[in-house]
Amino acid sequence: MNIGKVFLVGAGPGDPKLITVKGMECLQAADVIAYDRLVNKELLTYAKKGAELIFCGKLPGKHALIQEQINQLLVEKAEQGLTVVRLKGGDPCVFGRVGEEAEELAIRGIPFEMIPGITAGIAAPAYAGIPVTHRDHASSFAIVTAHGREEKGKDHLNWPALAQGIDTIAFYMGVGNLPHICTQLIRYGKKPSTPAALIEWGTTDQQRTVTGELATIEQIAKDHQIKNPAIVLIGEVVQLREKIKWFEAEKRKQPMSL
Ligand code: SAH
Repeated sequence: MNIGKVFLVGAGPGDPKLITVKGMECLQAADVIAYDRLVNKELLTYAKKGAELIFCGKLPGKHALIQEQINQLLVEKAEQGLTVVRLKGGDPCVFGRVGEEAEELAIRGIPFEMIPGITAGIAAPAYAGIPVTHRDHASSFAIVTAHGREEKGKDHLNWPALAQGIDTIAFYMGVGNLPHICTQLIRYGKKPSTPAALIEWGTTDQQRTVTGELATIEQIAKDHQIKNPAIVLIGEVVQLREKIKWFEAEKRKQPMSL
């Protein structure tokens, strides 16, 4: 039997229209779609009739497929000659473990492709009216996980470099660590008045954005009960939101029809 192929596809950040054309073509052709929790379920309606849809995410209180099981699943389905889409939120290469899956596929001789997606750290700010770079305000941008693989209590981040060397920082999985993020950035050189924003469920109908300063954002986030998934965005660019926010205002007027 011919061997199948695995497509490691970025679903985009939430708005289902933010998947790439190539990603959508893969979805429509797939025999099997293995999808994560943060993928917009509306995308699954584009699967062809009879396609097998497999949830690979973790639900609160429920057992999730562990990474080895997911790797094994992709290999097995492809070995059956099937076209498999591994659908991940945002971009599969940004905190998406695509490296681990691709490595397994490569070792087992399974053909695969990586289809990039729009990552939440850029898209959620854009929908909040915040461009992550700007000629006047930010010429560097970093994507950081505040939730590393470090041993408990040991910090994996180079805080002095982040605080002093990067204009805009997007923290993923950062809500729980917000006090630590703010403390460390201030400790290593960012001004307490540096603008900060949290964007929850960015690019979706439930998007919420709160803004403040490094010194105040923790309390503001608490007051509004901002939860993951959210991007913590730090930098002068956050100020631009006041002038150029568009999405939340638009949403309140009427549903968008494109
Ligand atoms: N591969 C994804 C990131 C996966 S890590 C990407 O490229 O976007 C999961 C984290 O991404 C969440 O904890 C949150 O910080 C962020 N995230 C994902 N979707 C989001 C969304 N719609 N709005 C805000 N943050 C989001």
